[in-house]
Amino acid sequence: AAKDGGRGRFHFYAPDLHSDAEERRQMEEDLRDAVSNGGLELYYQPVVQTATEKITGFEALLRWNHPEHGWISPSRFIPIAEDTGLIAPIGEWALRTACQDLSRWPENVRVAVNVSPLQFANPSLPVIVTNALASSQVAAERLELEITESVFLNDDEGTDQMFKSLKAIGVRLALDDFGTGYSSLGYLRSAPFDKIKIDQSFVRGATQPGSRNGAIIASIVSLAEALGMETTAEGVETLDELDLVRMLGCSHVQGYIYERPLSSMNAAARLSTGLMAIAQGPRSARAAR
Ligand code: C2E
Ligand code: MG
Ligand code: MG
Ligand code: MG
Repeated sequence: AAKDGGRGRFHFYAPDLHSDAEERRQMEEDLRDAVSNGGLELYYQPVVQTATEKITGFEALLRWNHPEHGWISPSRFIPIAEDTGLIAPIGEWALRTACQDLSRWPENVRVAVNVSPLQFANPSLPVIVTNALASSQVAAERLELEITESVFLNDDEGTDQMFKSLKAIGVRLALDDFGTGYSSLGYLRSAPFDKIKIDQSFVRGATQPGSRNGAIIASIVSLAEALGMETTAEGVETLDELDLVRMLGCSHVQGYIYERPLSSMNAAARLSTGLMAIAQGPRSARAAR
């Protein structure tokens, strides 16, 4: 029978499959197919600088259009990719594809690619990154790698060495989903991040009376500034949220208020219509309010 939609259950998978285990196995097989037959796509969500409302870059986000089940969210299939080792070919494909797309876009535009903890633990990641940059002839500083706090769970020399190797290549590093993990602040002392991404759970509800989220965002911003890092507020959906995170000093904003993730073709079109065009949406909405 169809599952009732608990998180992590693939209830949209065929009802004739009898167990979660079977559904999962089927999904794994389909994912393997998608990886080898070009069934995955990268979408690009604009990252906007608050001061100028210009697009400074995009975050690359995986999309899987399943032949029967339609779009499947990365928060569903990434965990399976991690359990099965498929994350290695998927992650490498994402890095190469993002660099290829980036090579066709203006030089002042960056792309951020999510890197899973398993990729980060793989000593060949620096070689994979170097090759992706070289084969599309993209400057290293145009590529940003997004890493979550969970890489610090194994706080060993490998982690330290990986940061050094990646910085030596010249790529930028962003700390994703900040504030949602279990790690201490200690790692900010030595890890060479260029940017902290403030998780959308802090943005959500921040405009409600009595919310403590604004105070938390403000303190993350001042911490980041003191350490010379930029901040992106994630998941900004409303004008009130946009006004608030600007007032609190976030240097960048990402969210549906500006744009949803776009196909690479639409991302390119968005760039060619002029970077400032993005300011029209929210601003004119504001004027009309
Ligand atoms: P993330 O890296 O934190 O990405 C941000 C997520 O927030 C994306 O979800 C994005 O579509 C969504 N988002 C952006 N603006 C808004 C908004 O205004 N409102 C709301 N409600 N959501 C917004 P998405 O694309 O479903 O990706 C989910 C997660 O899957 C990502 O979270 C990331 O952890 C993972 N992921 C996606 N692509 C990749 C990839 O290429 N490699 C790896 N390892 N993980 C990926
Ligand atoms: Mg991310
Ligand atoms: Mg995030
Ligand atoms: Mg996330």
